[in-house]
Amino acid sequence: MSKPGDIVYFEGEFVAREQARVPITTHAFNYGTGCFEGIRAYWNAGREHLYVIRLREHVERLLRSARILHLEPDPSLTASRAEDIILELLARNSYRQDVYVRPILYKSGSTIKVSLSGIATDFCVYTEPFGDYLDIRKGLSVMISAWRRIDDNAVPARGKPTGAYINAALASDEARARGFDEAILLTGDGHVAEASSSNLFLVQDGVLITPQASDDVLVGITRDCVMEIARRQGVKVQERRVDRSELLAADEVFLSGTGVQIAPITTVDGRVVGDGEIGPTTLAIQQEYLRLVRGESDDMPNWRSLVPQQAATVPGFQRR
Ligand code: PMP
Repeated sequence: MSKPGDIVYFEGEFVAREQARVPITTHAFNYGTGCFEGIRAYWNAGREHLYVIRLREHVERLLRSARILHLEPDPSLTASRAEDIILELLARNSYRQDVYVRPILYKSGSTIKVSLSGIATDFCVYTEPFGDYLDIRKGLSVMISAWRRIDDNAVPARGKPTGAYINAALASDEARARGFDEAILLTGDGHVAEASSSNLFLVQDGVLITPQASDDVLVGITRDCVMEIARRQGVKVQERRVDRSELLAADEVFLSGTGVQIAPITTVDGRVVGDGEIGPTTLAIQQEYLRLVRGESDDMPNWRSLVPQQAATVPGFQRR
């Protein structure tokens, strides 16, 4: 009896998870030469629908990361094709719960040579049942990390290179070892960038502020959702450079990301944010975000791709 998640996409086919193995000589395993996405699908029990959130934006960012990193997948892997593969994979796994989807483009060739060009690239996708990654009903405690966010001139911050997540892991391990829930990373020149794997927002005098894209942040898709929701709620939004001490003085602070969703922060470096409670702007955005992604509201229909109830019945899968 197979479990949801047992079927994966690997080397051009849907196969059992245990069949999807790479040799130890794989370039991506040796040098971290891949890029990936983290995508969520939410189960709406009332409608019996599984919705993938902002699928088009995620596959487009994946293909953009690949261009930045000289990962050259087969030209047949267009954004539409990648979307179809992901929807088909979810259908074949018969999920009736929330899911995390992990597509990866990686250097599958075997060579010691440290290079990006001229090495074969492959595409794989796996999925897993996934609940809350952090407890978003309570306020999180964060610290400003001693680790700095990767500099765009060293490792492209706009891509999602697999190897770059050493940076995120160092910072989040440091935070947890010191008893905090999460780490905030500064840029090399000491401005606020983001958390280990999520973007950061603060609210000051009713204005929603987030570090600008050119401050080495990953331009998050949830970040975009947050700004859209805030504007629709009549909140003024600013993308700009954020100083470290602004974080300490803010009325509200929260994180956004596919994994963390909308996660309120109530202490930064041991200082209480605002009055120590989850702020009204954070709460309003969090509630609206969760309603939209679960399809409890019909607004923003373009944010939700419906997973087909039935897997394609043909052996050589084709949807479009
Ligand atoms: N920053 C980093 C470093 C991340 O890994 C992520 C998660 N993909 C984010 C921000 C949030 O991005 P998104 O909202 O697109 O998930």
